[in-house]
Amino acid sequence: MAQGYVVPPKQPPQLNIPKSDVTVKVSCVDSTSRLDLGPLGPFLQPDYTGRNKLLGPALSFLIEHPQRKPVLFDLAIRKDFHVLPSYPKFVEMKWGIHVDKDVSTILKENGVDVDGGAIQSIIWSHHHWDHVGNPTLFPGSTELVVGPGSKDMYLPGYLERQDSILMATDFEGRNVRELSFDDSFKIGRFRAFDFFGDGSFYLLDTPGHSVGHMCGLARTSTHPDTFIFMGGDASHHGGEFRPTDYSPLPKELNPMPPRRRNQGEFDAHEKVLLLMAHDDSVIDPPQSDFYPKTMNYWYEKGVGKRVKWLFLGDFEGVVKANQRGEEVFTWGEHSSWDYYG
Ligand SMILES: [Zn+2]
Repeated sequence: MAQGYVVPPKQPPQLNIPKSDVTVKVSCVDSTSRLDLGPLGPFLQPDYTGRNKLLGPALSFLIEHPQRKPVLFDLAIRKDFHVLPSYPKFVEMKWGIHVDKDVSTILKENGVDVDGGAIQSIIWSHHHWDHVGNPTLFPGSTELVVGPGSKDMYLPGYLERQDSILMATDFEGRNVRELSFDDSFKIGRFRAFDFFGDGSFYLLDTPGHSVGHMCGLARTSTHPDTFIFMGGDASHHGGEFRPTDYSPLPKELNPMPPRRRNQGEFDAHEKVLLLMAHDDSVIDPPQSDFYPKTMNYWYEKGVGKRVKWLFLGDFEGVVKANQRGEEVFTWGEHSSWDYYG
């Protein structure tokens, strides 16, 4: 096994996910949002030859519990995104943003009684415009769940607060529940919250990209235990968390992905499927089932193995430029504008 890799893989750290017999159904909703945002620098460093934009979808997840009402993890982009306070910035940047349908519309088309309160909660991975969707399309009985520090930072929203990038209408007439985490319960290196209280779905405290950023970790099967890790914007590209010491490059693949982050510890476990919100390797063309089908059988169907190294295709230009002896990576200033997704 080890000889198939550029370096021998190390044993990954234990994630210490508690045992549970309860699973949730997880469906990845193709929100119809597609992004074509440049320049790439503020999203991802270093700059590299052959790709200078963030291209990809904005994924949303429907999580269905066997006894409780379903919840949504992220709502992607609202169809009427021109109403957002940051819209003038999008125009100035000449960004390509394409949205056919709101997530609520997609659910309704598939028989979900959204207006009747079928969805218990909307969970925002974080407050950026390409994740928050349009909560007003859900009734007041649908709560909004946000990460630590979000309320102080962003409420009550625009126009009431001129510096907010969120709409005041996102919160009106709705319970906004801000989670708090403590060190008494961790999964991997992240502080964790057991959302349904039965080990079927966890939220992980992953600030960094923004205040209050959370990732989701859903148990998709037992015997074996498999999980889907919903990464939000914890990364924007597979090259940020692959390869790692635990999951080195297979020898037959040999471009040079630039750097790695903490999610690599989850990614190193073959029974955890990492899906970032803007991962274009899973969707165009589709490498798995999307809503209304569930993704629970991802492990059996080999989805994880199939998508793991697809991001390397983005480095084709790097490899060719490298062969020509050119400089292929340059480090720029990393900006963290709130307009960015
Ligand atoms: Zn984003």
